[in-house]
Amino acid sequence: MKNLIERVSSEATATEADVVSLLECGGADVKALYEAADCVRHDTMGDEIFLRGIIEFSNHCRKSCDYCGIRGPNRTVTRYRMTPEEIVETACQAKQLGNTTVVLQSGEDPWFTAERMCGIIRAIRQQAGVAITLSIGERPLGELVQFKEAGCDRYLLRFETSDRDLFGRIHPDDDFDERIQCLHDLRRAGIQVGSGFMIGLPGGDTGTIARDILFATRLELDMIGCGPYLSHPETPLSARPLLEDREIYFKTMAVLRLLNPRAHIPATTAFDALFEGGRDLVLTRGANVFMPNVTPRKFRALYQLYPNKPCVDEDSGQCSACVVGRVARLGRTIGKGPGHSRRGPEKNSSQ
Ligand code: SF4
Repeated sequence: MKNLIERVSSEATATEADVVSLLECGGADVKALYEAADCVRHDTMGDEIFLRGIIEFSNHCRKSCDYCGIRGPNRTVTRYRMTPEEIVETACQAKQLGNTTVVLQSGEDPWFTAERMCGIIRAIRQQAGVAITLSIGERPLGELVQFKEAGCDRYLLRFETSDRDLFGRIHPDDDFDERIQCLHDLRRAGIQVGSGFMIGLPGGDTGTIARDILFATRLELDMIGCGPYLSHPETPLSARPLLEDREIYFKTMAVLRLLNPRAHIPATTAFDALFEGGRDLVLTRGANVFMPNVTPRKFRALYQLYPNKPCVDEDSGQCSACVVGRVARLGRTIGKGPGHSRRGPEKNSSQ
């Protein structure tokens, strides 16, 4: 196993059998895997942790993904939409709290037309001067081009699973090929691309996770965002068990780092929902990005993609102070500048 970890670390390539072996390793090998991932992160991305403040600006969604707490058919959710002015004001506050990027995240909400989104993007660029990531679901190429022209730097769109049958079963509104085409369209539009998958989806196994890791790697993503699958009680996939090997969530992140030395990898919020200090652990096992929630407190509890979401009772200032402490305790520093893609020349200068 030691040889395999060393080979994958140094060559950043692996077969499916290699990845399955890494995911199934135990004992001292697990520690060696985490150390190797942390070492690659240190050598390629440095010790800075970039803060990307998430603004969950609308929980309206026209889709019905089987695992998601804010899916359209869930009538137990109180729906909200922040106004464009509220979104821009929140972005300015996020900048003051040390975030160099804001991530505008919502369900697939048609009220936010391309025109409205472009107005918001332009206003944030002018008033806050931070980099902008959108996470608003699938949009046609023409709209992506408009977002780019307005000042959008990056876009997050998870493929969720590379298993097209599983994808089809849990996404009644979506087509796997269209999802992947949208990722390619983002690249054509000149936007930095982030994607990823849920670790431990029901219906998958260790081989599925291995294939998801390799699929994400082949996409040559600028950012890879993955988190544990967590079942929401008000969805068709509710009450599904977690994976028996709890370490596999972290091993997945570590292997992603070995295979994607220059990708930005966030410690996603779902890790804190499942593990005490989960995000801190991921940051020592390959991750280099933290995404504090900067959504106004009154909306936070209404944006629950999964249960037990952390930080719903805190305001942005409390979250910010918490993050600064967490970064310091890890012996790392907060990233300066926008933290653009490390895969190629910087495509946009936001600051
Ligand atoms: S995962 Fe996204 S697109 Fe699917 S229901 Fe939830 S918010 Fe909507």
